[in-house]
Amino acid sequence: MSYRKFKAAQIFTGNSWAPPESVLITSENGQIEAIIPMADAGENVLELDGILCPGFINAHCHLELSHMKGRIAPSTGMVPFLLQVMSRRQAAAEEIEIAMQEADQAMWNNGIVAVGDIANTADSLTVKKNSRIHYHTFIECSGFIGSTASIRFDQAKKIREEFNKIGPSGIVPHAPYSVSPELFRLIREYDSEAILSMHNQESVAEQEFFLSGYSAMNDLYNSIGVDIGFFQAPGTTSLRAVFPFLKNSRKLILVHNLTTSEEDLNFITKESSSTIYFCLCPSANKYINEKLPPVDLLQSYNDNIILGTDSLASNYQLSIIEEIKLLSVSFPTIKLGQLLKWATLNGAKALDMDHTLGSFEKGKLPGIVQLQDWKSKRVI
Ligand SMILES: [Zn+2]
Repeated sequence: MSYRKFKAAQIFTGNSWAPPESVLITSENGQIEAIIPMADAGENVLELDGILCPGFINAHCHLELSHMKGRIAPSTGMVPFLLQVMSRRQAAAEEIEIAMQEADQAMWNNGIVAVGDIANTADSLTVKKNSRIHYHTFIECSGFIGSTASIRFDQAKKIREEFNKIGPSGIVPHAPYSVSPELFRLIREYDSEAILSMHNQESVAEQEFFLSGYSAMNDLYNSIGVDIGFFQAPGTTSLRAVFPFLKNSRKLILVHNLTTSEEDLNFITKESSSTIYFCLCPSANKYINEKLPPVDLLQSYNDNIILGTDSLASNYQLSIIEEIKLLSVSFPTIKLGQLLKWATLNGAKALDMDHTLGSFEKGKLPGIVQLQDWKSKRVI
């Protein structure tokens, strides 16, 4: 059996830094064999600059919105952003398909090996079927009017049947402000083993809507002609208000967490038996809200942090190294090794993909990425 041997200035295993002067040994197709000292590695070691790490996991994306790149004005705030996405997402099928193919290829080239991808339609089916990237598709359900819950859920089930033929998938709620209690219950009763993912506390407008009953969210519903006169503000944060529907899930990915507080974290710690992951999409938060999540606080709660790009409607690129760079610049006390762990092993665990992805452990096929000058490039 022939081996491939890689050396760089540093090797990050997915969990920690390998000792200096280490060499990564793989099979011809990139299956991990071992990390050994240079002195034992023999000949034909490929010496690269920079850092080597396992392939990245993009835990939150919307591939089907890729054609919206550059179409949505930045810094508008949440509600104008949502209205723009709703009114501008229509496009010719061919245009949507080409944009998704290009986005999928760009992610592959910059070292992303797996994606937790939100779908409201079956548009991304063919691209995912033909992709080298591992996708877990979260079919997203929304509907704030309780009487529409069964119709909305049936639509999601039909889309799920399609995605389930090509890879792992599940049905998930969109956000606290867009899912009725009836719809939350249908989602939860459907599959107790599902990985749940939800846009959580993405804006001050969401927070205010649950605390006082009035915020820009009311304008959103007015604009789309939905009467929400029935809504009684629970007087608590959105996360606490909907958490009873989520707390017994096997895995729960909370995405964004811009206004999450220490009280919220104490509340969910006490209430939950789930493994909870906080997914950070800092570039999208900046693009929409000019705000970043309380990363230090989330990190102090647990280390189950994972990274996502969100979609090209709210990001200039789908690149995990760009998310790492923004976090590193904005939160200089967080060490690079920590950020890389969030981007690799933690993401793989969140998506149930750590048996083969996320770290340089023997037998895994995680891909190898080279990092240099805040750029990432696929090696294998
Ligand atoms: Zn999103």
